Amino acid sequence: MKETLIKKANEAMKNAYAPYSNYHVGACLLTSDNEYFIGANIENASFGATNCGERSAIFAAYSHGYRSGDIQGIAIVTDGDILAGPCGICRQVLSELLEEETPIYLSNGKEEMTTNIKNLLPMMFGKKDVL
Ligand SMILES: [Zn+2]
Repeated sequence: MKETLIKKANEAMKNAYAPYSNYHVGACLLTSDNEYFIGANIENASFGATNCGERSAIFAAYSHGYRSGDIQGIAIVTDGDILAGPCGICRQVLSELLEEETPIYLSNGKEEMTTNIKNLLPMMFGKKDVL
């Protein structure tokens, strides 16, 4: 699963629209019925309107009716020189839309890491705090 997700995330990264940062991100997740959803970062001149690759992928899956329990894993890849984790906004989104133990595969083509949102966002703020 990991190798295929990273490969498809790298393919998705080619579709990144990043004229401002020139920092390209691709993501791909796999659902329990073996559907793949890809995402790439899509920047905007109004920077707050930018969407990250992993959020693009998970929003696509949710838009098709999938939920956290349906997601087997997600790969997030960049073309940066150092291995990067998701930004703070994405960690918050993933904390609600992924299961705590769902594998998150990070890669920049040189290094890889397998982690999960529980490790990336300890003491996460979520539904339990609001409801
Ligand atoms: Zn992000």
